Amino acid sequence: MKKVFVILVVIANVAIVLAQQPQAQQGQQRQAAQQPQAQQQQAVQQRPPSWNPESTEWYTPDPPKVQPGVGTKPPSDAVILFDGTNLDKWESQRNPAAGSRRRDPAPWKIVNGEMRVAPGTGGIQTKEYFGDCQLHVEFKSPAPENYNGQNRGNSGIFLQNTYEVQVLDGDNNPTYVNGMVGSIYKQSAPSVNAYTKNGEWQIYDIYWKAPVFDGNGLVSPAMITVVLNGILVQNNYILKGDTPYQGLPSYTPHGRLPLSLQDHGTEVAFRNIWIRHL
Ligand code: MG
Repeated sequence: MKKVFVILVVIANVAIVLAQQPQAQQGQQRQAAQQPQAQQQQAVQQRPPSWNPESTEWYTPDPPKVQPGVGTKPPSDAVILFDGTNLDKWESQRNPAAGSRRRDPAPWKIVNGEMRVAPGTGGIQTKEYFGDCQLHVEFKSPAPENYNGQNRGNSGIFLQNTYEVQVLDGDNNPTYVNGMVGSIYKQSAPSVNAYTKNGEWQIYDIYWKAPVFDGNGLVSPAMITVVLNGILVQNNYILKGDTPYQGLPSYTPHGRLPLSLQDHGTEVAFRNIWIRHL
């Protein structure tokens, strides 16, 4: 009788354990899906009966060593898009001539190590395609002469050939604020005007989260952070779509695309352009 009782108790315990397993497994799977891979490994390996500090610390994968740039020099893992010597990483934005499969070389000029817009020749774009990225661009507005507003030192940095961070002379140059320097063109004015003076180099650091699309359209919109001369001017701004001159922004699905620079008819200079894939 005692033997039968023990067997029954064992069977009952096994049944309870089996009944609890699916629920526990679901919880673990849900948690695992939210954790980075290394953290998952750590949690699976250790899963302690009680938490101590080491339970939530992991050591792999080891982030690659990157040598930071000194001053405005690029970090060691950056793609150098312009270092003052050539336009090899760029090409014309104009459509190739009939019968030609390749675009023309970038028609802009290099003067004293600066890349300068050649007004009337059209924009230029990188040969390489980008998605999420960190971008560094330095620009200098030309002498103001008789130009004002949107015609004074206008160019633009187009993330993925579509979304413009405005380049404009911001030195005593009134215009619509969602089209001034530091703006996401026609969408978001900068929080402050961080431009220094006409004739001085201006430094953009841009952090770009590309929009994501699937077969049904937009899954997640683009997000951008813009730092101008070390000052945050766009803080994780979520874009409403592209940045048209006329009309409202909208999204059209795309994948990785080139980075492009705008020819808006004034001889804006650029230097030290580099980008990191994220
Ligand atoms: Mg522009």
